[in-house]
Amino acid sequence: MQELVFLGLFVAALAIGWFLGRREAIKVGFMLQPHGSAIDRQYFIGLNYLLNEQPDEAIETFIRALEVNPETVETHIAIGKLFCQRGDVERAIKVHQNLLARPNLTAEQADRVQLELARDYLVVGMHSRAERLLEELGRSSSSLRGEALGDLVTVYEQQREWAEAVEVGLRLLRERPAFAVVLAHYYCEQAEDALQSRDINLAQRHLQAALKIDTGSTRALLTLAELEERQGHTRAVLKLLQRIAIESPDFVPQILPLAKRCADNGDLDLAAYLDKVLERPEPPMLQTVLARSEELQRHEGDVSAQRFLLTWVQQQPSIGGTLALVKLQMRDVGQMEEGHMGVIRQLLESLQQQRPQYRCESCGFAGQKLYWQCPTCHGWSSIRPLKGYEAV
Ligand SMILES: [Zn+2]
Repeated sequence: MQELVFLGLFVAALAIGWFLGRREAIKVGFMLQPHGSAIDRQYFIGLNYLLNEQPDEAIETFIRALEVNPETVETHIAIGKLFCQRGDVERAIKVHQNLLARPNLTAEQADRVQLELARDYLVVGMHSRAERLLEELGRSSSSLRGEALGDLVTVYEQQREWAEAVEVGLRLLRERPAFAVVLAHYYCEQAEDALQSRDINLAQRHLQAALKIDTGSTRALLTLAELEERQGHTRAVLKLLQRIAIESPDFVPQILPLAKRCADNGDLDLAAYLDKVLERPEPPMLQTVLARSEELQRHEGDVSAQRFLLTWVQQQPSIGGTLALVKLQMRDVGQMEEGHMGVIRQLLESLQQQRPQYRCESCGFAGQKLYWQCPTCHGWSSIRPLKGYEAV
């Protein structure tokens, strides 16, 4: 059925192209032959193949019959695209290569064909050929420069060639300023590679570059804070913690172990730090509320912690919040009640285990782990921590 639909589309595209080509040819005086010319004959041969259920031969004949002139170039490109989408990439490459060899293409048409040919090469995994064509377009003043650079940067990203991805990404910013968010991730990837090779200075330089290109890069802020801690730069760590509290409060749970270590060393007032996050207008993450409740429990006792937690759970009900409340209540009850509450605790724990903690805002992928790049749709920074009802 799909084959039939394809053939239908194909023949329609060719018929339009043939008509346009004939009109153009007559206009410019190329094809003054009467009906029954060689081209017309090719069409009849093609139709014959089609009727004899020989689609491959029919397609070849039709393509040969279709003149390449300024008005049929788009038809040729469309045919190539159809082949590519259908998985017949070799044939798509042939169509596009044949087009590119024609001297009568306008500069814009040649650029379009070059882009399509590069895309064919990518589909069949001929990356270096594709890169060469895309690089050429990316360095030109073509209107397709942005599209070519976008494709090229995706190739380098898929191959995890971060230095090349950064270089192309910087050029792409002219057409796509919003690409800065992705570019910052490329720098962070470079920083991670540098950390693997234990080159802290290089990692730091990449992270600074990430923050320069995207001042709100949460990933760069989090990684840099950890790095500064490793180097014993307490003041820098505290500054970064404050930035994360204000600029990325939803990611404070990621940095809580570090904040707690700073508090243990006497460098940070953890309660005041958490209060600052909780005062933000956006609803806080449950882990931030729980950390503040633990601080209260430690300094003021169970009752203060229970009261505090109850207020937050009522405002933003969640399984995890209710579970924490039950655990706190269990510390103050008798043996019999403890048994009953233990059952409730187990039920809440099993419910909690089934819930995802993160979700991609682009494709809906949900999981327990934070990915900076969505494993399903490959979007960067599209995965967010879940809160309230949605969360654990
Ligand atoms: Zn996604």
